[in-house]
Amino acid sequence: MHALEQKILNEGIVLSNNVLKVDAFLNHQIDPVLMQQIGKEFAARFKDAGITKIITIEASGIAPAVMAGLELGVQVIFARKYQSLTLKDDLYRAKVYSFTKQTESTIAISNKHIHATDKVLVIDDFLANGQAALGLADLIHQANAEVVGIGIVIEKSFQTGRDLLLNKGYRVESLARIASLDNEKVTFIK
Ligand code: 5GP
Repeated sequence: MHALEQKILNEGIVLSNNVLKVDAFLNHQIDPVLMQQIGKEFAARFKDAGITKIITIEASGIAPAVMAGLELGVQVIFARKYQSLTLKDDLYRAKVYSFTKQTESTIAISNKHIHATDKVLVIDDFLANGQAALGLADLIHQANAEVVGIGIVIEKSFQTGRDLLLNKGYRVESLARIASLDNEKVTFIK
């Protein structure tokens, strides 16, 4: 997606050879126009997949997921990372090892919002080693619902996540695919 690649080149900051900071438009400040374009692109790629629900993880997945949900006309659930006092329903839970925090945490959703008939699209901001996406897929499987695909805003293709998810049979659609962050420079897979 050209507009996203340009934004990454212009405003992304390479923190190391495997971490990209995009606080200017996705992870802290959010660019609504770009998010709308991202939502349209996900919707175009998955429009024939019969999606009934989108699931993401707080906080950075929410903006692109909501925009995709708006375009596809479906509800969006975000998994909570922290125990919430108001999340008192029966929960589906999964453990996720965080690439950026290097700690394991539990993510959870209420079982009220996802059902066995649902065809679910997973959306997240980044794909590194695939653990967040796998955790979200786990929640969907606990509900006996179907994982229709995984939509990623920024994939770091030099890490293991994409192959892991493809080997498990998931469809992966990434809007920007980064080949390398070496020498403080972002290069894309064309
Ligand atoms: P994975 O679970 O695929 O290893 O990592 C994906 C998760 O880690 C995403 O939800 C994202 O929040 C975070 N993440 C992974 N790599 C990066 C990165 O380069 N920059 C930022 N800002 N977050 C990342």
